[in-house]
Amino acid sequence: PRPRPHSLLDGLDPDQRAAAEHTAGPLLIVAGPGTGKTRTLTHRIAHLVAERGVLPEECLAITFTRRAADELRERLRALLAERAAAMTITTLHGLGALILREQHERAGLGARFTVVDESLRQELAAEVAGSSADGRRLLARRDTEPHDTTDDEIARFEARLREADLVDFTDLIRVPVRLLSADGELAAHYRRRWTHISVDEYQDVDETQYALLRLLAAPEANLTAIGDPDQAIYGFRGADVGFFLRFTEDYPTARTVQLVRNYRSNSTIVNAAVQAIAPASLVPGRALRAVGEFGDPPRIGVHVAADEHAEASFVARAIDRLLGGTSLHSLDSGRVTEDGDESLSFSDICVLYRTDAQSEAVISAFNTSGIPFQKRSHDRLLARPEVRILTAELPHHPEGPVVERVRSAVGALCRRYADNERRVTDLMTAGELVTPLAERCGTDLAEFLSALSLGAEVDALDPRADRVSLLTLHAAKGLEYPVVFLVGCEDGLLPFRFPGEERGDEAEERRLFFVGLTRAQRRLYLSRARRRTRRGTAYDAAASPFLAALDPALTMRVDAESASRRRPKDRQLRLL
Ligand code: ATP
Ligand code: MG
Repeated sequence: PRPRPHSLLDGLDPDQRAAAEHTAGPLLIVAGPGTGKTRTLTHRIAHLVAERGVLPEECLAITFTRRAADELRERLRALLAERAAAMTITTLHGLGALILREQHERAGLGARFTVVDESLRQELAAEVAGSSADGRRLLARRDTEPHDTTDDEIARFEARLREADLVDFTDLIRVPVRLLSADGELAAHYRRRWTHISVDEYQDVDETQYALLRLLAAPEANLTAIGDPDQAIYGFRGADVGFFLRFTEDYPTARTVQLVRNYRSNSTIVNAAVQAIAPASLVPGRALRAVGEFGDPPRIGVHVAADEHAEASFVARAIDRLLGGTSLHSLDSGRVTEDGDESLSFSDICVLYRTDAQSEAVISAFNTSGIPFQKRSHDRLLARPEVRILTAELPHHPEGPVVERVRSAVGALCRRYADNERRVTDLMTAGELVTPLAERCGTDLAEFLSALSLGAEVDALDPRADRVSLLTLHAAKGLEYPVVFLVGCEDGLLPFRFPGEERGDEAEERRLFFVGLTRAQRRLYLSRARRRTRRGTAYDAAASPFLAALDPALTMRVDAESASRRRPKDRQLRLL
């Protein structure tokens, strides 16, 4: 039969299409970065609704971050118009919150319970445990160990939360798991409601999240799990790639689809990434190849700086040059290696780093050079006294004048950030964060504040803002940028180690490096400093073993000189 015109599966290659057309029963899509997993997921859901008679309200799609959920919702709206509205598209924590809202009575919560933000949570834990350090230990026990109420401190901490009608992130998954495990009819109710479940980034679920998914999706269910074991990077906080690897045992009738064509990056980047992951790959015979490429892609630029400040100013200069239309590569190699006549803007560029502290040097270089940027971090916002007061007070008196106070405080907060603090830090402003949330939650302030707390983990960057994005490697999951700078490619940062401490999980660090490399579409720069200061201590830093192991044929040295040497338009070079 001839394909239908304008099918929702147009724009998918045959393997992606096979995955999208799979109708009944469990499906595992296991594929490397940039192979269109997320794209396939989007078209698959649209296809189910538009062409297979699945009702939108029967669809549950789970993403790793709120930004990914927003993007998925937006794309489905573009494909399905208003039918997309009835779908449940959320993170696992968002899903937990939804179930708790509906089942608040069974959970012993008020209808307007609030999700506590991390700083208040730590304060409460410190109060219960007697000191901040003991409070942190209490929370670590609570978050990682199976529910133990013989633990008196944990019990008291939970009682404090409940008194104030608060839940924390751990509750958001754990309490629904408890409710659904205890009541088979309740679990069946949710299984009937969501007959088609998709989970992106399945390689990073943890044990409780896995338990929740198992309760929601029976072994024969229409569950689509999507992921890449080689991108499992959250083991440090309890995620376990083992759940992905045993999917076909949990769901024995599952069909497995592999995708090997990488549509994101040029062949240099793909080859370097494959090389980098090879020693630790969890996917036997990992296959990944670049498609749709013209000409000779530029090599990966490697820069060695004296210290982190020199490194940051290299990044700033390089961005300057790239936006000026001159490629570092074309200067250094004396030949034109442009992939098309590109016009880059700030939003095409991201800077990735292993630890948040590394962003400081970059931010100060950007401020000096006037490069606009946005950084994925709202901890500062949530630590604001205003927000903490709001979060703490609201559950006790949630009506009348207090609501008014809350409203005006939020308004003032937004204005203050929008007017003044933007210039000071140039971070994404509170207004930019709060306004869309406020719009979405409307008038329900408890929900609004919960959304604010939920947003803390996985803050949204505004994909439309013309700014360079600053991200930790962990936060960069699933994203892509034409130009990527990965700074701090040093032993001690990649793989990460606290100064003077044993090395951590080297395989996970390598996967993190792999995730970093594979965010880049067209140009990738890896930099390191010979001397670095961390936590106030300066030390000589050696190159990351991951960097050193890259095939020299794929890389080339780029120096700060060439980054700063301003040439007008390199017309002569283009002629060469
Ligand atoms: P990651 O593992 O990093 O999450 P992914 O497998 O989810 O990657 P996507 O983000 O879905 O990959 O796709 C990567 C890029 O390739 C996107 O820009 C997407 O639009 C593009 N792409 C995917 N499939 C195709 C295709 N069949 N034709 C053209 N472009 C495609
Ligand atoms: Mg993806």
